[in-house]
Amino acid sequence: MKAKTLDGLDIDLKPETVNGLKMQLQGLLYMPGDAGYEESRSLWNAMIDRKPAVVARCLGTADVMACVRFAREHNLLLCIKGGGHNIAGLAAADGALMLDLSLMRGVWVDRERRIAHAQAGCILGDVDRETQVHGLAAVLGFISTTGIAGLTLGGGFGYLTRRWGWTADNVTGMDVVTADGRLVHASRDEYADLFWGLCGGGGNFGVVTGFDYRLHDVGPEVVGGLVAWPASEAAGVLELYRTLAEQAPPELTLVALMRRAPPAPWLPPERHGTPVVALLACYSGDPDEGEKVVAPIKSFGAPIGDVLVRRPYAQLQTLLDATQPKGRRYYWKSEYLSSIEPAFCEKAIEHAANVRSPHSSVILFQMSGALNQLDYDHSPVGNRDARYVFNVAGSWEQPDDDQANIEWARNAWHDMKAFSTGGTYINFLTEDEGQERIEAALGSALQRLAEIKTRWDPQNVFRINRNVKPI
Ligand SMILES: Cc1cc2nc3c(=O)[nH]c(=O)nc-3n(C[C@H](O)[C@H](O)[C@H](O)COP(=O)(O)OP(=O)(O)OC[C@H]3O[C@@H](n4cnc5c(N)ncnc54)[C@H](O)[C@@H]3O)c2cc1C
Repeated sequence: MKAKTLDGLDIDLKPETVNGLKMQLQGLLYMPGDAGYEESRSLWNAMIDRKPAVVARCLGTADVMACVRFAREHNLLLCIKGGGHNIAGLAAADGALMLDLSLMRGVWVDRERRIAHAQAGCILGDVDRETQVHGLAAVLGFISTTGIAGLTLGGGFGYLTRRWGWTADNVTGMDVVTADGRLVHASRDEYADLFWGLCGGGGNFGVVTGFDYRLHDVGPEVVGGLVAWPASEAAGVLELYRTLAEQAPPELTLVALMRRAPPAPWLPPERHGTPVVALLACYSGDPDEGEKVVAPIKSFGAPIGDVLVRRPYAQLQTLLDATQPKGRRYYWKSEYLSSIEPAFCEKAIEHAANVRSPHSSVILFQMSGALNQLDYDHSPVGNRDARYVFNVAGSWEQPDDDQANIEWARNAWHDMKAFSTGGTYINFLTEDEGQERIEAALGSALQRLAEIKTRWDPQNVFRINRNVKPI
């Protein structure tokens, strides 16, 4: 069977060689044609279609160690799949040995220490479900089907970021299989350089098999959900967003969305497919206080739908899942903002009105708060001047529509990036964004990351990622 080496050469992997790996695994091994191979290699973004030579569906750390050692022994290209949600498709590579971690979904909560240990194949919903049993939560993202691994290793933000910082700021330890196939536990006290690098520098330094997350009191009930208005009200709604967001207590996170109304049961059928503007809110503190804080949103103008209510936090975390299904085609452009200017809002409204697909949107996330208060080099995620992030999110179904949708996102971004801090979120970068954009995302952390890379992965075994080259 044809496979790729680390140097990009084609080699023939003999069946007995592959069988040698199979004998070492407790998990499954798939090759093209095997049942399970297609499911493992398929990614959230259907624009990306890559065919690994072999897929190892690992069941635990020992399987991961066996795979890394096997890849080293045969000089094989290696790729790692957590949740497979990376828009650039960095979980898969042609001809590689793919480590598919998606069966490693255990979560253990230590209530006394307020720590959750989560295996690296978990999706966000796995962690929310187990931590909410105790009225606790980790700082994670907005869509429950996203993988924790890629999200955490690239930074991570969601409804709780304003209170407690990036997801990576809330990790206390990681189990890591290093390039030489060893297992180490990295934290601020052990292998501190490796730990620092992994808290935002991506999977450049090893395969993380488990994360320890610091937990916080959240829920189980919060005030959260959406209020929507016709797009004709967008100017007023974005002005409301601007003012509320600037004064909002850290418990409140606000997201503005502009798109065509999806066929959601809470929106009147006659509005489906028509342009709308919506505010998504989560008040993660006391729900009584939350109801007062969100009242100006609910009473603004004449909404066409309102599901901003008391609800379980874990349910809020799934509210947008249906809008981002696996298997559509996606293309994003994104930048950080330090404030929202009225002129930015005008541009956002203009470009949202020109979407080429009913699934596309212009989204403005609020993230200001705790992350702005930490030292710039607290972790490589950096960007401690970021208070908002906007995402021009193209989403459509047919390959024939690729060009029109990509052009829409690029044009909108070109027009809006003048408002950027100059920084961008590494986890939102698409396949065609290269070194210049990695530099925009990681900034001055890159030099230190390259030194860490040189110590921990001098041969660049872990290269299917936003790659930091060894020196
Ligand atoms: C619908 C959707 C919603 C999103 N919402 C948010 C959000 O709210 N907040 C946010 O911060 N981000 C969000 N993101 C971005 C998200 O953080 C990235 O897409 C992230 O890469 C997803 O992680 P994953 O494990 O699913 O990625 P994968 O595609 O599996 O992997 C991404 C990268 O991480 C590496 N990797 C994966 N697992 C490991 C591991 N165990 N050890 C070492 N390296 C590993 C891979 O090699 C690859 O380079 C969203 C993405 C999508 C598609």
